[in-house]
Order: sequence, then structure tokens, then C-alpha cells
Amino acid sequence: MMKGIVILSGGLDSTTLLYKLVHEGHDVLALSFDYGQRHKKELDAAATVSRMLNVTHNVVKLNDWADILKSSGSSLTNPVIEVPEGHYAEDNMKQTVVPNRNMVMLSIATSTAIASGYDEFVATAVHAGDHEIYPDCRPDFLGSLEHAIRVGNEDFLPDHFKIFAPYIYETKADIASDAEMHGVPIDKTWSCYKGGMFHCGKCGTCVERLEAIDEACVEDDTIYEDYLFWKTVIK
Ligand SMILES: [Zn+2]
Repeated sequence: MMKGIVILSGGLDSTTLLYKLVHEGHDVLALSFDYGQRHKKELDAAATVSRMLNVTHNVVKLNDWADILKSSGSSLTNPVIEVPEGHYAEDNMKQTVVPNRNMVMLSIATSTAIASGYDEFVATAVHAGDHEIYPDCRPDFLGSLEHAIRVGNEDFLPDHFKIFAPYIYETKADIASDAEMHGVPIDKTWSCYKGGMFHCGKCGTCVERLEAIDEACVEDDTIYEDYLFWKTVIK
């Protein structure tokens, strides 16, 4: 059993990671970030699943950064740019990247780990499907950052500290299977970029989620505005 921080967005992947670590007996603190994302539904979901697991959940508010990101090229933080619909493999999906986001989040999570004593790991739910368009989700980046964190915090972190990314070589379908195994309330998680009343079923993350859940043959009570669109855009 170890003590550590889990970066929790409130989506399927990080919620499954949280359930997995809690069920494995680790003592965890969940950390979410408010960086001006289009909507707060994922933060509400993060609070809900943390409550269900009886895990302490903190939200780091990055208001000034959010203001700067409003004029960035990312549809997740610039309200003027429309959220693209379709499959992640399409070119326009680069609009959903928030450059350097993982560097910021993992860095603040490390600082929180040291301050709180939950300092044996920082866990992130990046997976193999993220590698193509999100450079800060690739193994090379996480390995380099772990090294930089160790060097930059010598004597302040235990020697066995690690950035824990158990899904880095797994697919989203593997995560969906894990979600079922750990009893994750999938319909309480929030993935959709648009933040409407229900999941849209058409944005990149909705398409990816529906495809993964179908591939893993997992039951999902989430309501999607469009249940079938994803089948028209997968390769
Ligand atoms: Zn969506």
C-alpha cells in the first residue's frame, strides 16, 4: 500500500484509475484542475465519484491561466472555437489539445504530493490512444518528467517516488473493461467536451468512449444525444 495523488478529471479513464488504486488498497488523494475548461460538468463528476469512494477531493483553481487560455487555439478553453465532431484520428482533433496541460497538472500534483505527505506517487490515466495527438501523454514525456521531478526535488521525495501511469500501453477498451471489473459508475463519469445536458455522442471523446465501451462489451447507462454517430466515423 502506498500514499499518492490521483489526477482526476471526472472522466471514465481517471475515475477508473481512482477506483483501481483504492481497490488495490492505496491511500489516495484526488486532485482536479479548473483551468477554464468549457464546462464544469467534469469537475462535478469528479466530486461525485470521490464522494462515492470516500476519497478526499481537492480542486486547484487556475483562474489567471484560464483567462490566458481563453484566447488560445484550443476548443477546450477558447469558447469561440467550436468543439470538433468525429474521430480522434481526424486532423481537426488537434484543436482539442491544451498544450503543456499535463506538465502543469503533474507539476502541481507533485508539489501537492510533497506538501500533503501523499508523496509516493502521482497517478495519471493517460492511455495508448492519447499518444497520437497529445504529445504530453506519451511515454517519452512522462519518463523525462519523472526524471526532472526527481532531480528537482532531491531529498523532498522518497527514492521510490514515481509517476504512475498504469494504462500508458493500454487501450481505452482495456480501461472500460477495468471500469466494469472495479464497479465504476460509468454513467456518473463525464467525458463529453461540450457540456450539454447529456453526452453529445459526437465529439472526439464521446466517439472514443462509445467505441471503447462497445469493444469491451461493457454495460453503460450514460445517456447520449446520439448513440449511433460514432459508428459512422470509426475506421
Ligand atoms: Zn461529446
